[in-house]
Amino acid sequence: MRGRGRPECHPPRVTEPTHDETHGGALGSRLNWLRAAVLGANDGIVSTAGLVVGVAGATSDRTALLTAGLAGLLAGSMSMAAGEYVSVSTQRDSELAALAVEKRELKEQPEAELEELTELLQERGLSRDVAREAAVQLTERDALKAHARVELGIDPDDLTNPWHAAWASFLAFTVGALLPLLAIVLPPADWRLAVTVVSVLAALVVTGWSSARLGSADTGRAVLRNVAGGALAMAVTYAAGALLGAAGA
Ligand SMILES: [Zn+2]
Repeated sequence: MRGRGRPECHPPRVTEPTHDETHGGALGSRLNWLRAAVLGANDGIVSTAGLVVGVAGATSDRTALLTAGLAGLLAGSMSMAAGEYVSVSTQRDSELAALAVEKRELKEQPEAELEELTELLQERGLSRDVAREAAVQLTERDALKAHARVELGIDPDDLTNPWHAAWASFLAFTVGALLPLLAIVLPPADWRLAVTVVSVLAALVVTGWSSARLGSADTGRAVLRNVAGGALAMAVTYAAGALLGAAGA
């Protein structure tokens, strides 16, 4: 797919984190966060829907449904938060280590570092003289920041906070999980399944569409895959629950 709103004059470079960030992307990183939130909510919807629909296949006891749904919500949101915390912390550690190396190199061999920055700027299309002049100015202003951005593709003032990332994942999953949880416990027993299945599939249309839009991908196919995935999850867990329920396990 050709990216929406991506200027054709700047092909993305594989050595840089994302295309958006190379354009000084406050917008790009906000879109990434938004997309992560939508995907987190999507996880909460699908996994909790599978759980409560599976339990509903075995029992009509509201307390059992509420317990299963709530346990699923808490277990899922905490596991997402912990996973995000670990992954962002690891990334942050390696970014800090790279910055420390850079800082040492700048101190020990400033000339080589200036030459390195000059060459990196040349690779980006500046002429030798202009690249040299730019490298000198950037080095005078904030050498570490310049090397971090041009060489490592990170902004030392804006490293992702692992706690923020963990909290955001927790919230996103919880918001998603609340939908199937409420849909299975609130309606009268006869309507439970229908209300849950319909509201879950409708929500998956919304999350599939939004995440595709935010990622500049084809929305039709994304929605179809997302809805099919959720429907499959609910069908499989319902069948498993119904079998166990029938067997009196
Ligand atoms: Zn350097």
